Amino acid sequence: MTKRHSSPENSPESIIDLAPEGRHVYRGHTLFNNTPTEIVLADGRVQTIHEIGAANSDLWIAPALIDIQVNGFAGFDLNVATVTSEDVSAMVRALWQVGTGFLCPTVVTGSFEGISNAFCAIMEACKSDPLVARSILGIHLEGPYISAEDGPRGAHPLAHVREPDWDEFQRWQDIAEGQITIVTLAPEKKGAIPFIEKLVANGIVVALGHTDASANDIQAAIDAGARLSTHLGNGAHALIRRHPNYIWEQLGADELWASLIVDGHHLPPAVAKSMIRAKTLDRCLLVSDAVALAGMKPGIYQFAGKSVELAPERCVRLVGTEYLAGSAIELARGIENSVRFAGITLEEAVSLATLQPMRLLNAEKRVAAQTNLILFEWDAAQCEINLLATIIGNELVYHSETRSTEGN
Ligand SMILES: [Zn+2]
Repeated sequence: MTKRHSSPENSPESIIDLAPEGRHVYRGHTLFNNTPTEIVLADGRVQTIHEIGAANSDLWIAPALIDIQVNGFAGFDLNVATVTSEDVSAMVRALWQVGTGFLCPTVVTGSFEGISNAFCAIMEACKSDPLVARSILGIHLEGPYISAEDGPRGAHPLAHVREPDWDEFQRWQDIAEGQITIVTLAPEKKGAIPFIEKLVANGIVVALGHTDASANDIQAAIDAGARLSTHLGNGAHALIRRHPNYIWEQLGADELWASLIVDGHHLPPAVAKSMIRAKTLDRCLLVSDAVALAGMKPGIYQFAGKSVELAPERCVRLVGTEYLAGSAIELARGIENSVRFAGITLEEAVSLATLQPMRLLNAEKRVAAQTNLILFEWDAAQCEINLLATIIGNELVYHSETRSTEGN
């Protein structure tokens, strides 16, 4: 079944109406305050959004998801030398199809030229595609000032790992026209603490990640203004002293928020649950950390120069090994898993992928200035989100023909 074809006037209980003239009317409740709301679209654009008396529907209206760590999606990779503005636009538009409507494109460790090229492509995409510009909340630079050690370094190329360099960073920030808003680094690197102080003084969110830091290094970074642990529990040694170690130190630091990859692979369910409980909902947020394989069909691919297998359970491993080679989830799946693993509510889980990253980035005004929304149904028994529509900058950019509850 697809959408109902009836006018809003004669079916006040309906969720979606497609009037003869092609007008869409969605009725549901806003997720965070449960307000019955009607959204009227015509010619693919929002005409009105207004509160109504009641909406007898199971449709939820929420802000579009905010993902502060996206390396690629649907085959488009920000971290290849050949990345173009068209790739960036295509990646962002593909993310709209899965409910992610705001993001920080994430550029990882590479040569000066490679990182510069990625920033140029992102900025060019924002200029040539105004709707894409409405989705980008800033750029996340992950590396190159990270641990050179196997384990903490993760998949970042050793040849390009280096010490913090303020002049280099400033050149990048100029190329990125001031849009670098998050930097993930290792606080034990030489010169990292004064480097963090400068970043913080420039309004940049400093995140600890890909690090082998001691407790003293972590405390010094906190004192310098670091605010986040990037994908806590990952970018770490496979074997680690049980305590103290850099995971416990960051988990126990109330000054640090934590971003978590809740795909069931990067963090086992019990670890995700424990971290969400320990950090509390006020200091957690979800990221996909998606690589280009996210959004692709299962199979064997060449990725970052290696043969990797994308398994049906959205897990990327080096072929023939148990080693994770990147994340392939959509942020919406992280919401579902957070409900499953941590026993939190849908509203709480969605806040980890909307309100929390917005607060971290101090982006309340920028988010409020855009009409970037998602409309979805929630299957509580299966813990599944059924995305019905994504609206970016008042435009309907994704629209599902399938409703799971149609006819019920
Ligand atoms: Zn990482």
